[in-house]
Amino acid sequence: MDVQIEIDGGSGFCFGVTTAIKKAEEELAAGKTLYCLGDIVHNSMEVNRLHKQGLITINHEQLKELHNVKVLLRAHGEPPETYELAKRNNIEIIDATCPVVLALQRRIKKTSDESPEGQIVIFGKNGHAEVLGLVGQTHAEAIVVESLEDVKELDFNRSIYLYSQTTKSLDEFHHIIDYIQKHISPKATFKSFDTICRQVANRMPNIAEFATKHDLILFVSGRKSSNGKVLFKECEHVNPNSYQIESANEIDFNWFKDVKTIGICGATSTPKWLMEECRDAILSHE
Ligand code: SF4
Repeated sequence: MDVQIEIDGGSGFCFGVTTAIKKAEEELAAGKTLYCLGDIVHNSMEVNRLHKQGLITINHEQLKELHNVKVLLRAHGEPPETYELAKRNNIEIIDATCPVVLALQRRIKKTSDESPEGQIVIFGKNGHAEVLGLVGQTHAEAIVVESLEDVKELDFNRSIYLYSQTTKSLDEFHHIIDYIQKHISPKATFKSFDTICRQVANRMPNIAEFATKHDLILFVSGRKSSNGKVLFKECEHVNPNSYQIESANEIDFNWFKDVKTIGICGATSTPKWLMEECRDAILSHE
C-alpha cells in the first residue's frame, strides 16, 4: 500500500515486563523446565512465542499440585500465600515481581501493620493480579475501589489510606482524592499515596501527541491489558480514527481508504516485533 507508516518509539514493554521476559528466557535457554504463574504479559502473541521456547503457563489451582519445580512469578507480583505454598511444595520461585510493585506491596503491608484502625483503600481493578497481590498484604482487609461510585460506600468516619494500582489513570485518582477530602470526617485521618507508575502515566501525553499526528491510529495490544485500555482510550479521545487490534490478522484494509499516514503504537505489554509485523502487513498489501 502506498501509505506512510510510523511506529511510536515510546510504545512497547515497560522495564518490569522486559525484565520478567529476560528472566524467563535465561531459564529456558539453560534447558530447564519453567512454569509461569499466569500469563507473563497480557499479550497472547508474546505468550505464544515463549510457550514455543518451553514456558508452561499455569494457574493457582495447578500450582497446588506441583512439587520440586521452578515457577516464575511475573511482574504483577503475588500475595504472601503464594510464597507460603511454594515453600510447602518445595517449589523454587524465580521472582520477577517488578521492583515498583514490590515497593508498593511493602508500603501497603507497613500501613496495614501500623494502622489497623484505618481503611486501606486501593484504587484498582477487582481481581487483577497486581491488586490481589496488594490486598494480600493486608490479610484481605483492603477495600478495592474501581470508580467514584465505590468510593461513596467508604466509611468517612474512619481513617482512610488510599493507594493505587500502578497502571491506573492519574486523573481518576485525583478525582477520588478530591471526593474523599471533601467527605472525610474531621476526626479521621486521610492520607493518599500516589503509587501510579510513571512508565505508564508518562505515556499518556506522549501517545496523545503521537495520535494527533496521523490520519489513522492502529493501537496494537492484548484486550486484557489494563494500561492498554487506558492508552487506547486516550488515542480514541484525540483521534477518533483509532482501531485496537491484537495482531496483524485483525487489520481491515477498508480502514485505510483516503488515509495518507498511519501511526502504529501500543501498550506497555506490546512487543515491538508485533507492531513491526503490522507495519509489514500493510506495506505488503496490494
Ligand atoms: S507498568 Fe510500571 S509497575 Fe507495572 S510492571 Fe511496568 S514498570 Fe513495573
